[in-house]
Amino acid sequence: MRMKNIINLLMIIMLIGCGKSFELTKVAESEAPLFGKMKLWEIEKISNNLYAFRYTFYRNIILIGDDGIILTDPLTPEAASILNKEIKKISNKPIKYVAYSHSHWDHVSGGQIFKDQGAEFVAHEQCLNNWLDNPSPKVVKPDKVFKDDYKIDVGNASLEMYFYGPSHDNCRVVFLTQPDRFIFIADDANPPDGMNMIYGAGLADTYIFNLIPFFQSSELLARKKRAKGVIGSHMSFKNEPMNLVSGTIGSTRVIKQQRLFYQLVIDAVQIAIDKGVSPELIPDYLIEQGVLKETIIGFDEKKMRVLYKRITNYLLTGE
Ligand SMILES: [Zn+2]
Repeated sequence: MRMKNIINLLMIIMLIGCGKSFELTKVAESEAPLFGKMKLWEIEKISNNLYAFRYTFYRNIILIGDDGIILTDPLTPEAASILNKEIKKISNKPIKYVAYSHSHWDHVSGGQIFKDQGAEFVAHEQCLNNWLDNPSPKVVKPDKVFKDDYKIDVGNASLEMYFYGPSHDNCRVVFLTQPDRFIFIADDANPPDGMNMIYGAGLADTYIFNLIPFFQSSELLARKKRAKGVIGSHMSFKNEPMNLVSGTIGSTRVIKQQRLFYQLVIDAVQIAIDKGVSPELIPDYLIEQGVLKETIIGFDEKKMRVLYKRITNYLLTGE
């Protein structure tokens, strides 16, 4: 085979390896920039039933059916106000439901504008307990709660919600959109790559003991439901640190990569403990050894120190 042919063949293999690309149409965007070419917010159309709204680094999804509209996390009062205005340009159907992905205020604030229109707020039952224990005036109290799974229906579009135990917080659920079959896992699994440096390395409210089983259940769901892809709840890096991309849609492989990310960090700390490295020295030891430096995209020494410390604490205490 001639060199040129070999290169062509390699390029075809690489393209196949990258998986299918997804069609997205930009419906609206702000004039104000976030940074570089990225606008402060944008709305993308995925199908006639499904849209994605990104505001700064955060994203939610919008489902439109014959009987009405389902929104997910309102994000902030400002974001919700923009979304409310823009959604009315896309559809005149009523906003019937707002579904919470979990209970962290940076995702679920700002829903009042939808409550005022009669929307019903749906969340896992533990999210309601969290709200009762620690209410925020900016977060609308969930109206309807469930234990294991739940389906919100608006005619020819629906949102399935699955609870697989505590993970990123104690009530995060996996969203699956129908009929389009896209998965959304708030704060984790941001396309294009699950090996990205995570945002909140302190994992303050994360139930690490159940993280790996949570992702395994999500991977199984993706296979069972033949999910087409994952919609990222945050922006992410592509190939190199700080090369930020919107990360709207990617392969479901990102869920497995996210599981491997946590597994690799847990394994690295366990090996250091087994070697007899003193717990308080483990973060410095792993950084000096360059562990995972080449594996994690956007490897950030400061964040990794925090993450190693958090995982050390988990492996010593079980929490
Ligand atoms: Zn969160």
